[in-house]
Amino acid sequence: METGNEKNWPLPVPVHIPADGERGCFWEDRKDRHHCGIDLYAKKGTPVFAIEEGEVVEIEIMTSPSMIKYWNETYHLIVRGNSGTYYKYGEMAMTIPQKGTWIKKHDQIGEVGLVLNPAIIDSTSPRYIQALKEKNPAMLHLEIWEEYPVTDHKLYLGGNWFGSKKPPGLLNPLHYLHK
Ligand SMILES: [Zn+2]
Repeated sequence: METGNEKNWPLPVPVHIPADGERGCFWEDRKDRHHCGIDLYAKKGTPVFAIEEGEVVEIEIMTSPSMIKYWNETYHLIVRGNSGTYYKYGEMAMTIPQKGTWIKKHDQIGEVGLVLNPAIIDSTSPRYIQALKEKNPAMLHLEIWEEYPVTDHKLYLGGNWFGSKKPPGLLNPLHYLHK
């Protein structure tokens, strides 16, 4: 039996998986936006492992103070898996493989990061952000798509969707993590 690195599990430590309806769950209703992924809370610097073999097709800045002032700079890395499924590992403090690299399942692809800068959060921040100020948890934000993830900042920013309808191709990671 493998320790730490379970099947379809992107972190080396067991963490709470938010069920539908809980904070950090998939498609969480954040009033003016919906959550596109699932948040897996773990210490900053926790290694992140690929949950399916595939090609690294994108590495970009996911959050930064120039986008939203209370954000730290974090990164996302997108893997197009062998099955055709896209995995977006988000809010990472750093990423390891280069774009175009072929990675195997369980290869380390980055480290858990910390998005929020509590010193900048104030009463003008969205209420769900204010609620996170004290705890300020680090997390892996994981999205799974059956087509190339949408990153258009008019509709999508920092792991949230601002359109009224769920984007086509966006999947609930819960089902992948429980396989
Ligand atoms: Zn998230």
